[in-house]
Amino acid sequence: MSPPPTIWCAGCGHLWTALGAAHCTACHEHFGSVSAFDRHRGAAGERGHCHDPAAVGLVRRDGAWRGEPMPAEALALRGAA
Ligand SMILES: [Zn+2]
Ligand SMILES: [Zn+2]
Repeated sequence: MSPPPTIWCAGCGHLWTALGAAHCTACHEHFGSVSAFDRHRGAAGERGHCHDPAAVGLVRRDGAWRGEPMPAEALALRGAA
């Protein structure tokens, strides 16, 4: 048994263990998924730039920015409740 790998950002000291999470080394926001991370990145500028996660429709939950659940997922959750 080995502990989950801890990932650390040298820029802001944020620690996380969730595989699949994404941390932006430019703006140091933390994302629950690569797709959420991708959504806050813009193509403008030589190296791209960051959008405010809230401004691109992401929602902060459990310490990470996440996209809204897919409709099917939302329906499944509703059915289970
Ligand atoms: Zn960023
Ligand atoms: Zn960071």
